[in-house]
Amino acid sequence: MKHLIIRGIGIAASVFALNVFPQQGERDDPELQYVEPFQVFDNLYYIGAEWVASWLLVTDQGLIVFDALYDELTDMAINNIRSLGFDPNDIRYLIGSHAHYYHIGGAARFQQEFSAVVMMTEEDWLMTEGAAQFREYPRPVRHLSASDGSTLTLGRTRLQFMKTPGHTPGVLSTRFTVYDKGYPHTAFMFGGVGLNFNGVGQAERYVESVRRLQALQGIEVNIPNHAPAADVFARRDRLAERAEGDPHPFVDPEGWDNFLALWLERGERYLQQQRELAN
Ligand SMILES: [Zn+2]
Repeated sequence: MKHLIIRGIGIAASVFALNVFPQQGERDDPELQYVEPFQVFDNLYYIGAEWVASWLLVTDQGLIVFDALYDELTDMAINNIRSLGFDPNDIRYLIGSHAHYYHIGGAARFQQEFSAVVMMTEEDWLMTEGAAQFREYPRPVRHLSASDGSTLTLGRTRLQFMKTPGHTPGVLSTRFTVYDKGYPHTAFMFGGVGLNFNGVGQAERYVESVRRLQALQGIEVNIPNHAPAADVFARRDRLAERAEGDPHPFVDPEGWDNFLALWLERGERYLQQQRELAN
């Protein structure tokens, strides 16, 4: 059935079907995965790899990193922070979108080397105490749990958390403000988009999560944790050529709506498949 999920959805989104993820060696290779870090907004930088994202949010009281990556890709993200002119010792929080190794495999390093406080949901902290999914990784020490509706304030920056389960039991999504030459825009990171999980219950929760996201008002910027999911690199290229007065290519409320509509459709189809498998 897998080809049905992929058919007609283009290269960008197909990264989410597990069978078309880049090959293991390819996606773990820091040279193949290297992306020169870049600034997206006044306070937001891309520090991640080709296939999996990491983002640096700069506040007046230190740094926040979204997702730690893993193995040598974590080295890459840390080096990127330095090459952008920031000090990783200023990282206050690491936000883990969910407990799969490619997002939190390096979380323990951020704790040990930079004393960063790691935040995840309770459900996904529990995952770190069980058998690793896909691959083993150094387990982070349990720090803070983010619950649905909770917030984190660092200086004048505030993160608003939502729990959007499905991809894992406790996917953590975050709403925050980005600034384009001082002008604020509302950004959102959906912490677990892919349909590489099993079970009717999880699929139901996934669909419900997407519907809850659709009910949110005022989201203008889609910050994905896999760059291709929201055309991050194409937007980066357009940003580099942006002329004075042009709109910011990452500010795209319609793109956000389309993204959710697409994943709702896929999620519902996947739920149907899971129901058929269960019968
Ligand atoms: Zn995942």
